[in-house]
Amino acid sequence: MKCPYCSTIDTRVIDSRLNQTSDVTRRRRECPKCEGRFTTYEHVEEVMPLIIKKDGRREPYSRLKMLEGLKKSCQKRPVTSHSIDEAATLIEKRIQSYGLKEVPSRTIGQMVMIELHKLDTVAYIRFASVYREFKDVEEFVAELQEPPVAEDDPALLVFPFAATPPAVDSAGLSKSPNAPNSQKEKHHD
Ligand SMILES: [Zn+2]
Repeated sequence: MKCPYCSTIDTRVIDSRLNQTSDVTRRRRECPKCEGRFTTYEHVEEVMPLIIKKDGRREPYSRLKMLEGLKKSCQKRPVTSHSIDEAATLIEKRIQSYGLKEVPSRTIGQMVMIELHKLDTVAYIRFASVYREFKDVEEFVAELQEPPVAEDDPALLVFPFAATPPAVDSAGLSKSPNAPNSQKEKHHD
């Protein structure tokens, strides 16, 4: 994202917040050269990393696909569309918090399992049975005794590109402190 003051290309994200009611992310950025600060509003597809498919193909993240996957698992279950929306937003926040350019689809699958496990057991089993491709019933049942990967331990997630994944707080938000106001502050809307 280009600095509006000095046109330096490589600006730094100092705070990132996903709007709860829309798929727009508000980002505070700082220019490392002139220290100018500015705010951008980016759609979720623009700020999400590329998804690496099983066969190695890359494709842009699609919130619609994420929602469809969640809805399919929750079909005819007592899960509100509001909860499904919230789950999708939470997953997006977590993915963004790692700041990677590409993320394997199975990493996202793991995050979906974590959220479905919180929402509805049947929905979780539906998703997990497809996602994990269980070899036999015993293996599947054994897996179900244990909850999926702990949410507060990103080290357990699959990150072939990041040797040490960044720490994520319990809400899954980035650790950036509230950006202090700068004299150079300027809003972009
Ligand atoms: Zn600048």
